[in-house]
Amino acid sequence: MNYKDRLRRAAEIILQSKRVFALTGAGISTESGIPDYRSPGTGLWNKTNPLKKASVSALRKDPAEFYKTTITQWRKFSKAQPNVGHNTLKNMEDKGRILGVITQNIDGLHHKAGSNSVLEVHGHLRTARCIKCEGRVLFEDVIKQLDKGINPPRCSICDGYLRPDVVLFEDAMSDDFIKATKVLSGCDLLLVIGTSLQVYPVATLPQLARRLIIINKMPTSYDNKAAVIFHEGIGKVLSDLERTLK
Ligand SMILES: [Zn+2]
Repeated sequence: MNYKDRLRRAAEIILQSKRVFALTGAGISTESGIPDYRSPGTGLWNKTNPLKKASVSALRKDPAEFYKTTITQWRKFSKAQPNVGHNTLKNMEDKGRILGVITQNIDGLHHKAGSNSVLEVHGHLRTARCIKCEGRVLFEDVIKQLDKGINPPRCSICDGYLRPDVVLFEDAMSDDFIKATKVLSGCDLLLVIGTSLQVYPVATLPQLARRLIIINKMPTSYDNKAAVIFHEGIGKVLSDLERTLK
């Protein structure tokens, strides 16, 4: 099918469906200047596995080193702004076309775009918590301490060190992940956007939806089960789709 026909078919399916959710991954944020570590060609993924370094054991072993290896990337995340993809999903939620967004991203861009119903299955960078007393602070405080040369950043109450509220390697599954499995049961349609579905357990979520529409540059393991597939750019497809729905 050509691009226009696929848009029309996707719009038809969205209009026929009652419970529609979007599942987003790193691909939706590349247009905001955040590299997708899994895309071939960026080279970043091959050099170091950033997720392995962001593990609970790495944090326990050497928290200062943990921050040194992760903070450059996390600073970028906290400065990034939502793009047309995030904004279109916000509009689709406002119009009742989708019920909410489930995201693998920790960049918080769906929140910044104004989406109300967002499940962040890998956590986010808005807050951090003390590993001793669990007291919460804004992630900005973590950055401020690092800027002053305080590494690892410390809790002002008990002096334990702080960790961001992201799901690290070896962490338990997040509450948002469990909520995602619940909201997706009985889901008519899942829009899979910017994820190659290689990360478990998130990769299991599309099984819960009756139908799939996939928007991703690279092929995914669910392509053969999808009703419509787009390999075009995410911002373009979502805004064209929104126009087709009108
Ligand atoms: Zn504390």
